[in-house]
Amino acid sequence: MPETPLRVLSVIPPMTQLNTPYPSTADLTGFLRSRGVDAVQEDLALALVLRLFSRDGLVEIRSRIEATPERQRSPRVQAFLAQFERYRTTIAPAVAFLQGRDPTLAHRICSRSFLPEGSRFESLDVYIDPEGGDPLAWAFGALGLEDRARHLATLYLNDVADVLREAVDPRFEFVRYAESLAQSQASFEPLAAALAEPLNLVDETLRALTLAAIARHAPQVVLLSIPFPGAVYGAFRIAQAIKARDPRIVTVLGGGFVNTELRELKEPRVFDYFDYVTLDDGERPILALLDHLQGGRGRSRLVRTFFRDAEGDKGKNGEVRYVNLGEADIAFAEVGTPTWDGLPLDRYLSVLDMLNPMHRLWSDGRWNKLTVAHGCYWKKCSFCDVSLDYISRYDGASAKTLVDRIEAIIAETGQTGFHFVDEAAPPKALKALAQELLDRGVAISWWGNIRFEKSFTPELCRLLAESGCIAVSGGLEVASDRLLQLMKKGVSVDQVARVTNAFTEAGILVHAYLMYGFPTQTVQDTVDALEYVRQLFESGCIQSGFFHRFACTVHSPVGQDPDAFGVKLVPLPPITFAKNDVRFIDPTGVDHDTLGVALNKALYNYMHGIGLEQDVRSWFADRVPRTRVPRNFIARALR
Ligand code: SF4
Repeated sequence: MPETPLRVLSVIPPMTQLNTPYPSTADLTGFLRSRGVDAVQEDLALALVLRLFSRDGLVEIRSRIEATPERQRSPRVQAFLAQFERYRTTIAPAVAFLQGRDPTLAHRICSRSFLPEGSRFESLDVYIDPEGGDPLAWAFGALGLEDRARHLATLYLNDVADVLREAVDPRFEFVRYAESLAQSQASFEPLAAALAEPLNLVDETLRALTLAAIARHAPQVVLLSIPFPGAVYGAFRIAQAIKARDPRIVTVLGGGFVNTELRELKEPRVFDYFDYVTLDDGERPILALLDHLQGGRGRSRLVRTFFRDAEGDKGKNGEVRYVNLGEADIAFAEVGTPTWDGLPLDRYLSVLDMLNPMHRLWSDGRWNKLTVAHGCYWKKCSFCDVSLDYISRYDGASAKTLVDRIEAIIAETGQTGFHFVDEAAPPKALKALAQELLDRGVAISWWGNIRFEKSFTPELCRLLAESGCIAVSGGLEVASDRLLQLMKKGVSVDQVARVTNAFTEAGILVHAYLMYGFPTQTVQDTVDALEYVRQLFESGCIQSGFFHRFACTVHSPVGQDPDAFGVKLVPLPPITFAKNDVRFIDPTGVDHDTLGVALNKALYNYMHGIGLEQDVRSWFADRVPRTRVPRNFIARALR
């Protein structure tokens, strides 16, 4: 293809996650290099945090605060100023500690006299040792000195982030940034208005980092992959800086947010920032685009790509066009091996926010992210985006190919921890993968999402553990056989009990995704679901969980056929920008917000082994009915 070789820079925009690179640029860079493209990558999310949370960054924050009238400074900001010298001296060591570069600092951090302590440290008061001892020792006892220090250093960083939010940019958060400007925003207007605002310190820092990356790599094409709404604003600011510096650099937008929310994009102003917007897996659309940019094909022969007609051209009016030549996607077996080359792997921050053991895996430690198969083999759950490519197009690769990729990644990164990022890794493929790892003597640790389906027999769970599986997560959703059927989840509560028990017996940590507020869910269903969850914790089947409030998306079976689920959708406004969540009216009229508070409180305690003997009604503020679930239901299912 190439006549003039193009350099392609893939960028992770802020914010995504701090402990490990988001996989999109590693996947794309690995793929493009396998096709002979000169591809490089940058993580500007990490770079932004490291710049702001440095000695110089804190000095900048202080000077912005000092430029505001004193009466406008919140108590938190005033406390920061009062302790500024301590913050300035400790920020670099605390960051180095969280990066794993200075582990012995744990002793000083745990002394509680090294780091200044702001309001985030008040959260430690929730840990109450029933015996009256040191609450942190009780909560972290089993985890040890380093983890205690990591949690304290994380609280410290969160304190500084609070100051940044209150004094500089109210939209700043570590894992999402200015999310509300993009999430299900029918109109581009709020984002356009924010992008027209003068740059604040966060914007200026991001702009400087962007221009430095452009100077370093001199790319002709920049790909911005946005996984979530909380990375949209940052991506647009990056594109804005690039276009202001050199409008000839071609900017391309893609990623999970685009694939779910921008499918009906009509807003021409998006193309003031991006020349192209691609949908679904990026590999094929980007190959077609690079071919176009090098004169190999016209624009009308692009693949799943939006662009804006040039205004004033004959018959063109500056409108958004979508073209899709319909070329087949690259097979999963052919996408190549991700590469992290160019990313500063020793600079990611292992933060320890919560004691939830599974959340710990997400935010702590650097995991190589890899996919076992493209899409979901089940693709039936009625709350899931089953109509979209990332779920519906199931495509696997042989165990040999996967282990080849694993070996190549270990050779590159020197790290053997893997997070399989599938929505639901297929049991057959996991079995073959485990066998191949064992046959080839490749020692790794891995964890990922699965469905709690019956093919995960005790024997298979033991094999997975032997191959390095340390944790699995899966959806129990609303623990109710009626609702599980309505959801087409393909599992029942007693089956989930047996499968999770098999994992636990094999020494694998089990996390359950739990849901509330599903259409037609009554108060009685909620009480019963909590009783099942209580028994699952009590029997040791699950060790971790999280309750999500059900959200209806336009791509899910509920959003596409609400009548079948007994709900009415609230009509959406005209869409020119993002479209995803849709509000609905459930005739049961249950106040799920209030119930959700009780569910989360109960779950938090169950994870600490507290309150398992209590009647589940005791967690609810209002009177709720007694559970209909027999008290030994799960114990019986296990027998
Ligand atoms: S919820 Fe999970 S198992 Fe169900 S269809 Fe979606 S990805 Fe597959």
